[in-house]
Amino acid sequence: MKKILIIVFATLMTQFTGAESRPNILFIMSDDHTSQAIGAYGSRLAKLNPSPTIDRLAKEGILFENAFCSNAICAPSRATIITGQYAHTCGVHDLRGGIEGGRQHLAREMKKAGYQTAMIGKWHLKREPAAFDYYCVLPGQGKFHDPEFRIQGEKPWPKNLIKFPGQHSSDAITDQTLKWFKEKRDDSKPFFLMHHYKAPHDYFEHAHRYNDYLSDIDIPKPENLIKSHPASFGSIATRGYQDELIPHIGTSIGNRNPRRSYAVDLPKRFPQDYPKDYDPAKLTDKQIQHLAYNAYLRKYLRCVKGVDDNLKRLFSYLEKIGQLDNTVIIYTGDQGFMLGEHDYQDKRWMYEEAMRMPLLIRYPKTIKAGQRVDSIVGNVDFAPTMLDFAGIKTPGYMQGRSFKSICETGVEPSNWPNEAYYRYWMHMAHHDNPGHVGIRTKEWKLIYFYGADYQGLNQTPPAWELYNMKNDPFESTNLYDDPKYTDTIANLKNRLASLRSSIGDDGRDFPKTEKVLQEFWDYDASDREKARRLSTEFLKRRLESLENPSKGKKK
Ligand code: CA
Repeated sequence: MKKILIIVFATLMTQFTGAESRPNILFIMSDDHTSQAIGAYGSRLAKLNPSPTIDRLAKEGILFENAFCSNAICAPSRATIITGQYAHTCGVHDLRGGIEGGRQHLAREMKKAGYQTAMIGKWHLKREPAAFDYYCVLPGQGKFHDPEFRIQGEKPWPKNLIKFPGQHSSDAITDQTLKWFKEKRDDSKPFFLMHHYKAPHDYFEHAHRYNDYLSDIDIPKPENLIKSHPASFGSIATRGYQDELIPHIGTSIGNRNPRRSYAVDLPKRFPQDYPKDYDPAKLTDKQIQHLAYNAYLRKYLRCVKGVDDNLKRLFSYLEKIGQLDNTVIIYTGDQGFMLGEHDYQDKRWMYEEAMRMPLLIRYPKTIKAGQRVDSIVGNVDFAPTMLDFAGIKTPGYMQGRSFKSICETGVEPSNWPNEAYYRYWMHMAHHDNPGHVGIRTKEWKLIYFYGADYQGLNQTPPAWELYNMKNDPFESTNLYDDPKYTDTIANLKNRLASLRSSIGDDGRDFPKTEKVLQEFWDYDASDREKARRLSTEFLKRRLESLENPSKGKKK
């Protein structure tokens, strides 16, 4: 009732004053764009300056240093953003899930409140984006070159297609958004626009005009690429008993993981980024890793440059029509990405580079320029925050909280929880990451690799990892077995257990997985003994499947 009154009041106010006081909301999301590849985050790559336009949002707005996704993979993160619910609540645990129109809550609520809504670019939630007034979306992952889009039209979803031969997807998506502004925009309403790039998702195909961008530059490496697994890093879950699983957990840049690595993939995919006489048989592992890393990062950063150049076009247009300062502009990626840290590629990990989302927000009317905050916010909070900017109270079925007041004051509300929940479900799929769950506070990260699939099977050795994020931001030293931290661990385990129960990830959905998770929770001596056995058994299965690939098929 209260909500209806607020909406009626807002509508009346607009009618009385004749002016729309509510801001437009432009939510821009790139796929797999990680904070290390944004200048404003100041990483080792900042000096290459791949993102001057995105950096402008930080300079003229607010940058979040601790924005996290609750499940670092595409479809679940997108589902969480559109529903305001965690993966286990909205039911998108992995890449198979979809969200139908009735549950596209963020768009639905915006429309209900009188916003003109549109979704343009990569959608990836399978069902028709029916809650939006307008959509133009890539089918599934879509194509980088010669993209097609599904749009509204005479034929039912998903049959109405438009094609852009000869175009790159980042250019085509921006063109479609500009076309929407020019042809579809209803100026009597504020807009809510989701503008989503496919770039820089793998395999990092960029527009041809960037073929030479960074080609002469050695891309700065993270310190933990070459010496990726010092004895202090990881656990039996990520290294195996006596390090026997280091070659099998987490896909690699160099030769570490024989099942999947960029050292194997990239020379075939990007021969133009390799020396003409490339012959791995004549090179050391370190040289092979060096070439794969450079080929990887060049392709990735060329995609980022393409996104940034396109955003310049979009922002210039908003400026031209006088809407730049009337628009809350949010930039993010659906999660982070490992750019060679720990010799890992891809996302999925709770490790910082994958779990952290870039998040920059510009709205000069209420957000002060040049702020950086370390408040912990999550993708589950995005919908409540955007709705709050639109004057809409967070609906009860959403699990996140609005952080609008943090944007506007730089100060956290006194009850702000400052803890983030994380869970990756796709045990050992695609990139060899064990299933895990954990909690991140400003100071600590506790990760529990329970290591089992949805049936509690294909177990990898379970273990816990504790990192001090203030002293050890690159997560080089697992402190779990250091007796100094016994109390810290007990306290964090309690917080993790209450967090699980308060958000409803209580194991009901997958009781066999939950049984494994509970079995190793206290991690006593017999659990550790069993972990050693599970390591050796997993290794045996893995080696058999490598010898006989048809049996243990590479997914
Ligand atoms: Ca993604």
